[in-house]
Amino acid sequence: MRDEFDAVVIGSGPNGLTAAAVLARAGRRVLVIEAADTIGGGARTDEAFGGGIRRDVCSAVHPTGYASPAFADLDLTAHGLTWAVPGVSVAHVGGFGTVGIHRDRQATATELGVDAARWRRIVDARDPTALAGRILELPALSARRPFSVAGAAAAVLPVDVVARMFATERAATVFAGIAAHAARPTTSAGSSAAGVLLGMLTATGWPVAVGGSESIADALAAVIRGHGGRIETGCAITELGQLPTGCDLFFDTSPDLIARLFGERLPRRYARALRRFDYGVGTCKVDFVLREPIPWTRRPELMAQTATFHLADDTMQIRRTERQVAAGLLPERPWVLGGEPTRVDPSRAPAGTHLAWAYCHVPAGCDVDVSDRIIAEIDAAAPGFRDLIVDRIVTTATDLAAHDANYVGGDINCGAASLRQLLARPVLARTPQITGIDGVYLCSSATAPGGGVHGMSGYRAARAALRRVTA
Ligand SMILES: Cc1cc2nc3c(=O)[nH]c(=O)nc-3n(C[C@H](O)[C@H](O)[C@H](O)COP(=O)(O)OP(=O)(O)OC[C@H]3O[C@@H](n4cnc5c(N)ncnc54)[C@H](O)[C@@H]3O)c2cc1C
Repeated sequence: MRDEFDAVVIGSGPNGLTAAAVLARAGRRVLVIEAADTIGGGARTDEAFGGGIRRDVCSAVHPTGYASPAFADLDLTAHGLTWAVPGVSVAHVGGFGTVGIHRDRQATATELGVDAARWRRIVDARDPTALAGRILELPALSARRPFSVAGAAAAVLPVDVVARMFATERAATVFAGIAAHAARPTTSAGSSAAGVLLGMLTATGWPVAVGGSESIADALAAVIRGHGGRIETGCAITELGQLPTGCDLFFDTSPDLIARLFGERLPRRYARALRRFDYGVGTCKVDFVLREPIPWTRRPELMAQTATFHLADDTMQIRRTERQVAAGLLPERPWVLGGEPTRVDPSRAPAGTHLAWAYCHVPAGCDVDVSDRIIAEIDAAAPGFRDLIVDRIVTTATDLAAHDANYVGGDINCGAASLRQLLARPVLARTPQITGIDGVYLCSSATAPGGGVHGMSGYRAARAALRRVTA
């Protein structure tokens, strides 16, 4: 294949596809090679339930995708992607009642009462889409003051410290639940960063992709193919000899693969950074087919307006879960993150059938099915839930790692969101996708800005390569 391609992208997750789309659009001859039989990585939708039901295997809700400058630049909505954006970005069901965080800031302020002003200071921004774009474009916590001073300061603090800034347990728990998407112990520095970014994006919207998350991958593939790019599936790259020579290489993979393939050829500083790279804890996910929507006891009208729910009685339940999981223990009563996509996108299932999913954090590499614990938490907030289950699919942390090699030990972000790896992911650099070997880039979520379906790591790698060619 020598001279046939200018660039080869290994891995077709959102980052790999974004890199390929940007390069193909710039006139580069591009090949994408994917290990699995279908494209999309963490943005895949399957029909494993049968009956025309479309289940998101991994990612399901897309605040960072909706705000992504890369997806906006590639005009994915002109390539078949439609967002369904609910009015309530996330609903938290806690011991104190149910709280909705709305796109409408005034509605959120009303929900949070005495903590409204504190919420605004910590997670609000006048133009969240623009600010999120700047955060996603730059190494995290750059000096360009992307949000309020209070927000920037909060991002580097432990959740436990930020939670104490709120006067009420309800606001503290809502914030802790959003921050806990990063799966960090609440005592660790930087554990609030996801709370600040995702909290800010509640005002923009936490949408689902109509038809399933794979619509995002399909839209990116349409851009690639529209510019003459090629995508090959069912081919795992395990050695350099499988790759064409004389072209740029973009690895939408774990850092481990780069370290293995290039070994001694990597610059010493970069190789050291890869050796020190930490993965996070695992996740165990359950997908449900239901006879009826989840019968929430409290505020069912609010719950009908959202695609995402968080379940934790209080900050203590979140703190305990993340502490136990980090210590290698199964959470006794996990805090649970879930969603009901058919609430906002009825196209996912035939009329009368409803879809839901939920997950909780588990120790890295855990192969235990904890769906009973997850079901118990949902059933406590929605008695009768378990009787509505028609079918379910459990994906343990080890299943996730088998599904996508990037999810090492079931870590859905391909790298812990520790403070060190918020700043240096995997190295502290303006474009941390550059490996130091000419023409070789690491462009997965193991590089800044990290996990999430936003394509920004691929975008930055591709633009760096294009700058190099034109320079
Ligand atoms: C259960 C779960 C829930 C999630 N929920 C959300 C959510 O709601 N919202 C959100 O924004 N994010 C969510 N995420 C995270 C999100 O999916 C990832 O952060 C995102 O997909 C990362 O994109 P990526 O392109 O870096 O890597 P991936 O999407 O992981 O793609 C990497 C691709 O490379 C392929 N690959 C790896 N090694 C090789 C090789 N050696 N040869 C060939 N191909 C290879 C893999 O098969 C895969 O297709 C979730 C993830 C999981 C697992």
